[in-house]
Amino acid sequence: MAYDYDDQNIFAKILRGEIPNQTVEETAHTLAFNDIYPQAPVHVLVIPKGAYVCFDHFAAEASDAEIADFHRVAAKICADLGVAPDGGGAGYRTISNAGEDAVQEVPHYHMHILGGRPLGRMLQKAD
Ligand code: AMP
Repeated sequence: MAYDYDDQNIFAKILRGEIPNQTVEETAHTLAFNDIYPQAPVHVLVIPKGAYVCFDHFAAEASDAEIADFHRVAAKICADLGVAPDGGGAGYRTISNAGEDAVQEVPHYHMHILGGRPLGRMLQKAD
């Protein structure tokens, strides 16, 4: 089944410059900006500039150059913002929500980078 990309989603509008963003990093393939409702002192969203709905769509259809650039930008942000353990930081978490069960709100692939405070365990046990 092929993904159907909605070009009216809010990140598509950010990429077209129709709404503003607080850019952290930008390359030919990738944009990273601060989350508008930060859940931690560091809360950056990394998105590909291409029209991909979620992680598996990106992994299946993006070029090797897009995939490599996306991850290198994300890692650079972890280092630059001082959360990467390698640079003496206290750590971070990356999250990528896909679809209904994960409550993906914006249907343009994005990776959350969260850090700057203890983040607790990965998931709460469901009731
Ligand atoms: P998700 O639930 O994984 O789809 O996360 C979507 C994220 O996008 C949420 O953390 C929102 O706070 C964030 N968000 C929504 N609109 C904007 C915006 N205009 N600029 C920055 N972040 C946004």
